[in-house]
Amino acid sequence: MIDALPEKGVPGDQVLAELRELRGADLPTHGGQLFAYVYDPARPGLDALAVAAHALSYQVNGLDPTAFPSLLAMENALVAAAARLLGGGAETVGSVTSGGTESLILAVKAARDAHPEIEQPRLVVPSTAHAAFAKAAHYLRVELDVVPVKGLAADPEAMAAAISRDTVLVAASAPSYAHGVIDPIPELAAAAAGQGVRFHVDACFGGWILPYLRRLGADLPPFDLSVPGVTSISVDLHKYAYAPKGVAVLLHATEELRRPQYFAYADWPGYTMVNPVISSTRSGGPIAAAFATLRNIGDAGYLDLAARTREAVTILAAAVTATDGVRLYAPASTSVVCLASDGADLFVLADELAARGWHTQPQMAYADFPATLHLTVTAAVRETAEAFGPDLEAAVAAAKARGPVPVPELPPLTPEMITPELIAGLAEGLGLGGGDFSRMAMVNTVLNASPPAVREALLAGFLSHLQRPVIQ
Ligand SMILES: *Cc1c(COP(=O)(O)O)cnc(C)c1O
Repeated sequence: MIDALPEKGVPGDQVLAELRELRGADLPTHGGQLFAYVYDPARPGLDALAVAAHALSYQVNGLDPTAFPSLLAMENALVAAAARLLGGGAETVGSVTSGGTESLILAVKAARDAHPEIEQPRLVVPSTAHAAFAKAAHYLRVELDVVPVKGLAADPEAMAAAISRDTVLVAASAPSYAHGVIDPIPELAAAAAGQGVRFHVDACFGGWILPYLRRLGADLPPFDLSVPGVTSISVDLHKYAYAPKGVAVLLHATEELRRPQYFAYADWPGYTMVNPVISSTRSGGPIAAAFATLRNIGDAGYLDLAARTREAVTILAAAVTATDGVRLYAPASTSVVCLASDGADLFVLADELAARGWHTQPQMAYADFPATLHLTVTAAVRETAEAFGPDLEAAVAAAKARGPVPVPELPPLTPEMITPELIAGLAEGLGLGGGDFSRMAMVNTVLNASPPAVREALLAGFLSHLQRPVIQ
């Protein structure tokens, strides 16, 4: 147990040594073998530059850009760069947010608050839309209309039919996180515009790589602000712009569209608060690190990183296709490789891949979607891609030999039954008590067999079980 408030302060060297030891338990953020959570361009010197830029600006507070014009200048530069990349025009404005979730919450908030006359505002999304839309709807008390997809992409007719008088926003993905599929943005945006409704493109994941993939010759449909009817678009800089975490951009087609996003408050005795985003006090560190990252990599650099990512995707996809027991679930046309089972148990396979150093992301079966493994591919994977095929082959053979894990005898659970005691018992029974998360097949199999509401309760309960301090 580590004491964050020791009686006497601990020397910096020692604290850093402790920190390094803690970090030793983490998955590797570099090295092209972790296919989720991290985005690694494998560019020598970039990490050191970002750290130095962060160090220059981390004390600066984004609460008041008039006090710290350096942040205003960097934010405007980041927004301008995103606008140029994503089809913005002279009217385009935007905000720097802390990430995709915040961008989406703000896009929904702006749309909701543009219509104070609508009592119960509604948001229309395809079933493949990122879970952050559900979070936004939940936080903002907006009703979520989830429309089933056709194949793996949003169905424009069904989406149009779901728009009602109370719809304040229609949204879709470019591309979807789960499968890397770009929704038919022009058709969807036209349908929304036809009914006078805002349309948001969630390009949080791929917004910084799709334009470059297209320049490299990939045949990708239009998706950005240049498409008529698109009123806002979000792109995470901490994904394919390879900036350190905590930075994203939300663009609006006009300042008028952005206006209801702002929150200002003067009805108290303190300073008049005016916030474009959710946080009030904000560190300048991530913004400066993102600014330095973009300027250092530059347009030509991003084109090169996209080319390497594209090669890696091609190599990984070919490995999946060549391996008996798994199959490509979605066309690998962006930066995602998504594979489904063709005989091998995917959750056992994920453990077998992890044992060989490859960390994939299991996605549970949902509605008509089977369970899949998701691989977010970044430029660093180009270095390791060729080694993936043989390990996949071996991991699939091992998974076939082991067979699916037997599902433990559990009574049919309902969310109400999931108490802290039940979670503690499950954590013990599933071998998670010791904090070893390397063999997750059993856990994933239990989750996969449970309906979404039970999954949610189990996961929230389990995280809450982990997130308990040892108070002395
Ligand atoms: C990552 C992602 C988000 C959420 O972004 P965070 O930065 O994790 O908050 C939203 N939409 C898509 C498509 C994403 O990939």
